[in-house]
Amino acid sequence: MNEIKLAVLGTDGVGKSALIVRFLTKRFIGEYASSSECIYKKRLSIDGRQINLEIFDPCSQRSDSKSSLIDQVNWADGFVVVYDIGDRSSFVSAKALIRRIRELSSEICKREVTSVIFLVGNKQDLCHVREVREEEGLLLAGENKCHFYELSAAEHHQEVAIMFAKAIRNASGS
Ligand code: GDP
Repeated sequence: MNEIKLAVLGTDGVGKSALIVRFLTKRFIGEYASSSECIYKKRLSIDGRQINLEIFDPCSQRSDSKSSLIDQVNWADGFVVVYDIGDRSSFVSAKALIRRIRELSSEICKREVTSVIFLVGNKQDLCHVREVREEEGLLLAGENKCHFYELSAAEHHQEVAIMFAKAIRNASGS
């Protein structure tokens, strides 16, 4: 049985919990009231292999958060870094997060992690209030050799499932 751990990171309100809940339950839960970090656990089968999946959701990146980015980099096999396409500041934060994950991974774990970083521009259904062009997401992903998806936790079940399945495959090294 493979154990795979994914950390879903990004600033508050970008839709981290909504994406995770969409993947695990096939539902969009508009207001997901959770103020403390949590780990979701699910047993699933990918390519005929049984996987014990754990997904870390920081819920809120508050200063009293129990775990730091160093802990998350030590813990996770893969990272989903989320921004809101309607919020440029969340994209700037995602850029800094990717850089920090890469630095910490090479310092602490002595590993190159770009193949297991998935950059996600969420809330694509709200593209009429878009502040970040799709090309900018593609460029950032290209510069960091990581994967890129524009998605909507609200509307795209299939695409969200495809992104998580690919993240799980890459994190398991297959
Ligand atoms: P988190 O703080 O990053 O975990 O963000 P949440 O998952 O709590 O989502 C923050 C808000 O954005 C909530 O009101 C969600 O309903 C909303 N939201 C999340 N994803 C989407 C999406 O894809 N489209 C739209 N329209 N709203 C979304």
